[in-house]
Amino acid sequence: MSKGAVWVTEPNPKFQLSKVDTLPDKKFSKDEILEKTEKLGERMEELFDLMFFSGKNALLVVFQGMDTAGKDGAIRHILRFSHAQSCGVASFKVPTPEELAHDFLWRCHKQTPGTGEIKIFNRSHYEDVGVVRVHNFVPEEVWRPRYAHINNWEQTLVDSGTIVLKVFLHISKEEQEERLVERENDPNAAWKLSVGDWKERQFWEDYQTAYSEAIGRCNSKDAPWIVVPADKKWFRNYLVTEAVVKVLEPFEQSWREKLEKIGEAAKAELAEYRLTPQ
Ligand code: AMP
Ligand code: MG
Repeated sequence: MSKGAVWVTEPNPKFQLSKVDTLPDKKFSKDEILEKTEKLGERMEELFDLMFFSGKNALLVVFQGMDTAGKDGAIRHILRFSHAQSCGVASFKVPTPEELAHDFLWRCHKQTPGTGEIKIFNRSHYEDVGVVRVHNFVPEEVWRPRYAHINNWEQTLVDSGTIVLKVFLHISKEEQEERLVERENDPNAAWKLSVGDWKERQFWEDYQTAYSEAIGRCNSKDAPWIVVPADKKWFRNYLVTEAVVKVLEPFEQSWREKLEKIGEAAKAELAEYRLTPQ
């Protein structure tokens, strides 16, 4: 069993979620991790700003996971360190008739970030090889070619300067039960209750199989998956922040260089303005 986040950066059709733990290693202390997460969050914010002002790249972070895995919580955590001007969230629900009248990537492509921007996907095109596969909403001849479509599409985004990170929040079946029961017992969380969540739970193994295959087939160094042990929210937030920082850092130097050039051009323009008689 692996005890941290697992990066999947090259195709591996045998990848199995069951080999990844959902709990942190005992060596991690919650207080230490919380402190580290704040520091890493500030670093993430700095990188977000450099990306935004240099306008060279964009960031797409995709979140998938079983119901109650913590997609909303992880997204809220990232948003704490970002600015409304540059960061947005797109949530993908059961497709509308208009969406169904198009190819499965259409609704996602419309939501991708422009240069400088961050876009977080709460569910994504992976539903089209996830819930769609589990419930046979379309036959296998239709969903199976989607792995290749997804790989080509994500490469298109990467080739046009988008940094792509896909995060699978990995919880255990027992943890899901606890979270569902907790919702039932919490008078303030009644709005979150959904009989659908209990129904979907019966398909747990089918979802694990579908996601294992999607993660194993749809990844590359430029569009990796990271599987995050997510039974503990504090550990989840730490690993997500660490992963975002890790995918952004290789670009930092080029952003700083671009900002320097922008700064020099602005200074020169100002100097010329000062020399010109008004
Ligand atoms: P929630 O995230 O709780 O708001 O639920 C959204 C629901 O939409 C989930 O049950 C998803 O499985 C479902 N959903 C998202 N995308 C698709 C899709 N392409 N086809 C069918 N159902 C979908
Ligand atoms: Mg739900």
